[in-house]
Amino acid sequence: MTFPSRDLIPPVRQKRIVIAAGCRCELCGEEYLAADLEIHTLGTERARTGGSPADLERELLVLCSCCHQDLHRNCVSDDEQRALLTYRTPEMTEAIREILSTKLKPYVPPEVDLEETFADATHLRTHYRGM
Ligand SMILES: [Zn+2]
Ligand SMILES: [Zn+2]
Repeated sequence: MTFPSRDLIPPVRQKRIVIAAGCRCELCGEEYLAADLEIHTLGTERARTGGSPADLERELLVLCSCCHQDLHRNCVSDDEQRALLTYRTPEMTEAIREILSTKLKPYVPPEVDLEETFADATHLRTHYRGM
């Protein structure tokens, strides 16, 4: 099953948010592996069209797949979902807002000569023998 939230927040960022939430589902409070938790977005349309990226913090929930499916199946109201946000600690709120407002940097490959690194690694034994 796919949810629209997957497109809204880049996967790398979703994982950081999950970790900022202490790898805990915000509905059942259970601890999970980061990979087993999902980001649910409230008021998706509003999040997409207005406000600063940090405002998204009030528009998302970290949920385990079980609670996530439950929430969609039972059509939990927006108000009930927002009530869950009040359990967040100020530290967690701050951490998530920071993740969301950080600009994504384009990927720059590290300046490492792979061939040289490999040669260094394979000559390690010779190097130690010389010591
Ligand atoms: Zn849960
Ligand atoms: Zn969802």
